[in-house]
Amino acid sequence: MELNEIKGIGINTIGYLNDLGIFDVAGLLTYYPFRYDVMEPSDMSKVTDGDRVIVCGICESIPNVYYFSKNMNKMSFRLNSGDKLYNITIFNRAFLKKNINVGVRLTVIGKYDLKHQNIVASDVRFGFISKTEIVPIYHASFNINSKRINKIVLKAFDYSVLDYVPDYLNEKYKFIDKNKAVRIVHNPVNLDELKQALAKLKYEELFVYMLRINALKKSNEILCGLERKIDYDVVIDRMKSLPFELTGDQKQSILDIYNDLTSSKRMNRLLQGDVGSGKTIVSFVALFINHLSGYQGALMAPTEILAQQHFENFLNLFPELKVSLLTGKTKAKERKIILNGLIDGSIDVVIGTHALISDSVSFYNLGLVITDEQHRFGVNQRANLKNKGFMPDILYMSATPIPRTYALTLYGDMDISFIKNGPKGRKDVKTYLKSNKEIKDVLYMMLKEIKLKHQIYVIAPLVEDSDSIDMENVYELETKMKKAFGKVCNIGILHGKMKSKEKEMAMDRFKRNEIQILICTTVIEVGVDVANATMVVIFDSYRFGLSALHQLRGRVGRNNLDSYCILISDKETKRLDILTHSNDGFKISEEDFKLRGSGDLFGYRQSGEMNFKIANVKTDFDLLVKTKDDSYHFINSVDYNLPKYSHIKKLTLKSDNLD
Ligand code: ADP
Ligand code: MG
Repeated sequence: MELNEIKGIGINTIGYLNDLGIFDVAGLLTYYPFRYDVMEPSDMSKVTDGDRVIVCGICESIPNVYYFSKNMNKMSFRLNSGDKLYNITIFNRAFLKKNINVGVRLTVIGKYDLKHQNIVASDVRFGFISKTEIVPIYHASFNINSKRINKIVLKAFDYSVLDYVPDYLNEKYKFIDKNKAVRIVHNPVNLDELKQALAKLKYEELFVYMLRINALKKSNEILCGLERKIDYDVVIDRMKSLPFELTGDQKQSILDIYNDLTSSKRMNRLLQGDVGSGKTIVSFVALFINHLSGYQGALMAPTEILAQQHFENFLNLFPELKVSLLTGKTKAKERKIILNGLIDGSIDVVIGTHALISDSVSFYNLGLVITDEQHRFGVNQRANLKNKGFMPDILYMSATPIPRTYALTLYGDMDISFIKNGPKGRKDVKTYLKSNKEIKDVLYMMLKEIKLKHQIYVIAPLVEDSDSIDMENVYELETKMKKAFGKVCNIGILHGKMKSKEKEMAMDRFKRNEIQILICTTVIEVGVDVANATMVVIFDSYRFGLSALHQLRGRVGRNNLDSYCILISDKETKRLDILTHSNDGFKISEEDFKLRGSGDLFGYRQSGEMNFKIANVKTDFDLLVKTKDDSYHFINSVDYNLPKYSHIKKLTLKSDNLD
């Protein structure tokens, strides 16, 4: 069913929906909210500083508007809730001024600043809320906000979607009807009903995922790959001439890969290891082994910077192989030479970015495909690269360490090598947990680093997308930082609302040390490598998962300088404390999974590699294990030709492209 069949949505809106990955009515109906705001007035006697609050009250002053620039403004007014007066601040809503007069009844939603009795509002609504409202929140974009998405979805309620769960499983778990569930998640009336609907949809999503994994595994088992004859002694000799001794885990991973490459089965392996654990060299040796058997190899990295870096390293470490770099920036003439070299087989290894999967790239005999930071590529991109050879072996590398049990489920179709211990001699990043009260200590520590001519990342509180709050946090922090350090160094900002040119510029200036303190909201890009940055200060760090914090921390400690990570938080200090004791990514993610294990309906934003629409791998892990078994039984018990399961059949046939 096409989107233009829905009444009242125009071509522009369809474009905005397309940008969100919604292309038809089924896609729209299954564009599930990622969380819910439960709207009821807060009990202001129980809230603490920094909490999200909802206050109903009467406006007591004419709003005062201050313009920073043409499209950036700040409005403030006083709100009387009956027993207290609050100062309300809201950004970029100056247009509301004409409707906010003294005496108007308002509901204000925002962040509470206890000391100043101030609320920085993310939303102001007219009138009081009478009963508990459950508001679905969608991933939105600049062009289309969450509210509007919801309105459009509601218009599509006449249409229905397929249920991918077989009847016998729906009966077994007493699930509610899929279409009923879809309607409830977009328009929930009470929490119990919502829970039931979520249970059904989460199960379905995970079931389909595990079905795909099981189907892939099944097809891998019967697929034959390239079988090579390679003398392992040659590999050992070559490893010995590397400038450093490989760690035990690196050697084991290489042996795993060697065994795969020399067996008749096609390799489909994931190499997992913490940031800096030394995965790259393992992939290089894999390319070397592959070369020994006469095949070409390709290594795809997610960014220009990373590809360049890999290329230079490879050139240094394996000068006997002919290697080329192919990215979007490669000049036409150079590109032509490389494309020819790949076709005639004179190039042994190509390292690059997405540019590698363009149609014009073909190989003489591609035998090994490696993707670095594999989660950063879409499924189709990875499939495209591997389709450029005849059954090439495949190696993925992931820098998000996840514990063994989880990895084995989520990547059930792959074999996995773990690099647990990184090269010795690296200094741990010293990590401190501080409360907001101790901010003076933090500023002092920052000053010390600045005096040493080092640089600092300051991470502003992470706030859910699309609202103006995240900017407010950055500007608020910038003001504070300027007050403290404006005289001694330069301060820059980097946030998601900036144009990509501006972002690049900010990043470049930081790299060139023209900026010493960089305040950012967006998680700093993988591959950003500023060796002179020795400190990362993370405000409201309780808002992040431990693994995400560990990744952020990995941005510093990139040389032999002492480096520091300062976590500022008044909440969840027990959880965050884990980071102050450990620099081991696997251990941290294990703890993270354990702590977040119980099903929390509201609040957490999904992160990490598995971008499920509605299920959350962490909180719904038990469900995932259940679907793993159910889908396994299903796939081994049904006859694919049964018309009843035609949609499943389509799915499994397609699954070869869906790793
Ligand atoms: P990641 O696993 O994050 O991709 P890299 O492969 O980039 O990590 O390795 C990080 C750094 O460690 C690189 O500079 C690399 O040269 C170095 N390195 C890798 N293995 C060893 C080793 N066995 N001994 C010493 N240094 C190593
Ligand atoms: Mg790497």
